[in-house]
Amino acid sequence: MYNPERVELVRRRLGLTKIGFAEQLGVDRKAIQRFESGDYDLPEIAREKLLMVSGYPEGFFAKSTPEYPNPDGVSFRSLRSLTSSSRDAAIAAGALAFELDDWIRSEYELPTHDLTAERDLAPAEAAMRLRVRWGIGNRPIGNMMNLLEAHGVRVFSLVEETRHLDAYSLWRNDQPYVFLNTLKTAERSRFDAAHELGHLVMHRHTGSTHPKAESEADTFASAFLMPPDDVRAEIPWVRSLRDIIEKKQRWGVSAAALAYTLHKSGRITDWHYRGYCIQLGKYGRDAEPNPMRREVSQVWTKLLTDLWRQGISLSRLASRLSIPERELSALLFGIVADPNTSGDTDRKLHVVS
Ligand SMILES: [Zn+2]
Repeated sequence: MYNPERVELVRRRLGLTKIGFAEQLGVDRKAIQRFESGDYDLPEIAREKLLMVSGYPEGFFAKSTPEYPNPDGVSFRSLRSLTSSSRDAAIAAGALAFELDDWIRSEYELPTHDLTAERDLAPAEAAMRLRVRWGIGNRPIGNMMNLLEAHGVRVFSLVEETRHLDAYSLWRNDQPYVFLNTLKTAERSRFDAAHELGHLVMHRHTGSTHPKAESEADTFASAFLMPPDDVRAEIPWVRSLRDIIEKKQRWGVSAAALAYTLHKSGRITDWHYRGYCIQLGKYGRDAEPNPMRREVSQVWTKLLTDLWRQGISLSRLASRLSIPERELSALLFGIVADPNTSGDTDRKLHVVS
């Protein structure tokens, strides 16, 4: 018999309503309800269609009840513009990530996290405290994703087809997770990663759904990526937008994020800031002037390369876990094994940040 909760997970991944799902399976809602109540299995025709429509292997539906990220611990930005089906699909991706992560843990030793909760500090101070603790001081952060990985945060990707979903993060059994939407520019992705780090550090115990959580995480991210002292030293004055577009490279942020920081600290006037925003708006949300290269996960590159050396391709891993290869690839930034990556000699995956 198929596990109804597994079928439900796939429905969410497909972004279908219950009615739409029943239609796709060629049965009526009642047949699904009887199945969900646990009294009847799905009709055979529906099972066949389910495998065909979803691309999920039969083994997936026989596994035990999935563990979902707790939605209360997950904060979504611009929740209002996010449809519930996009939200459900992204949360369901988290459930798949847990299964992948559990398997990885059983095979490999990954860095353990060293995050401590900061509840009593203002967001910018919490960011600076963490910089000091991690030995970064006021230096720019070369690679935000690798920094998180080196400090034991598990970073997965989301390829959700929505611009309204930036990222989310959560704690699970003392393990911090960050999910990043890969449709965004490299600069915005870095900011999202720093924003989620802020949630993990500041909102672990209070949850990140309270009204001020979003602005706190943004303030944390700004200070974490652009330490105020360093910005002051590097940008004594701003002559034009071109200065900002040139200087932003140092911190790996968007021109908009740097302009916002400069305006907030009073380095540029309201009038200039408004002008810069209009000029930057012309690039659109999905483009960045003077763009940087996208960051690549070191943990997943090393892992996939090590598996590949053992003759385990992504598709073999997928069938071992009974999860479609496309879903694994979507969680792992579409990374393919890189034979040129130096291998770790043991099953410990080291990360250089
Ligand atoms: Zn947030």
